Amino acid sequence: MISTYHRPKTLDEALDFLTQPNTLPLGGGTLLSKATADSVAVVDLQALGLDSLRVNGNDLVIGSTCTLQSLLESSDCPQALKSAIKLEAPLNIRNTATVAGTLVAGDGRSTFTAMLLAMDAKIEIQTTKTDTTTLSVGEFILTRPSGLITAITIPLNVKSAFEYVSKTPADKPLIGAALSQWNSGRTRLTLCGYGKTPLLAMDGTEAEGVQEAAANAYHEAQDEWASADYRMDVASTLAKRALESIA
Ligand SMILES: Cc1cc2nc3c(=O)[nH]c(=O)nc-3n(C[C@H](O)[C@H](O)[C@H](O)COP(=O)(O)OP(=O)(O)OC[C@H]3O[C@@H](n4cnc5c(N)ncnc54)[C@H](O)[C@@H]3O)c2cc1C
Repeated sequence: MISTYHRPKTLDEALDFLTQPNTLPLGGGTLLSKATADSVAVVDLQALGLDSLRVNGNDLVIGSTCTLQSLLESSDCPQALKSAIKLEAPLNIRNTATVAGTLVAGDGRSTFTAMLLAMDAKIEIQTTKTDTTTLSVGEFILTRPSGLITAITIPLNVKSAFEYVSKTPADKPLIGAALSQWNSGRTRLTLCGYGKTPLLAMDGTEAEGVQEAAANAYHEAQDEWASADYRMDVASTLAKRALESIA
């Protein structure tokens, strides 16, 4: 339950509020506004102008309060990321949910986070008024640092693909495979559809072994939705399909 609502006009003001106990940044509020027994103070970020999308050289810099739908509709958004965003949430949620809120709230079924992880996206975090830090999305989801996310940066000079299997085309995947390949040959494969976070299955200097890496990464991926054997088999096929689609 939201007991206190702040709407700062500057980043400094927001950071001051966030030093208070039991106070969280509010992105789109689609998760934070859900009814809970605990009361929380929120700092609404919408007046801070953090919702821009900017191409900077070979990168796309996505402001933390950019909504999933704005990113999806941007001509600068890579097609594979668009596919992943469409599966992350339905249109009404995408219109409100922000990229930072989705990254923070996402679990192992998050298609958006899986694609960011494959792209080796960088997360900019304002830790205090004077300090910022930049983490890879892999470091971010492992360490879950405190602080205010201000931007997410993805590379535009990579080829990417997102392949998945789900119960219906619009359902969140039982198994999703996100793949990115750099001109150097560097190939990253991540999997989603299971567990607490998407998994980095491979980060290699070339694509060889991508199918084996996919199967190995999901050897314990058993839950009420699918067996580990099924996920291993499908992950391997999806990895092959993703690689073929960018060839
Ligand atoms: C009907 C419905 C269906 C949903 N379906 C799903 C689903 O299928 N899967 C799923 O994962 N979620 C689902 N959600 C939850 C939620 O919509 C998503 O996780 C959403 O993407 C969160 O984004 P938001 O911007 O609304 O985050 P908020 O609700 O504003 O915040 C979520 C978390 O992120 C933190 N946060 C927000 N912005 C920042 C920032 N800039 N820096 C640091 N921390 C920040 C908040 O403090 C909070 O802890 C659903 C919600 C609804 C209402």
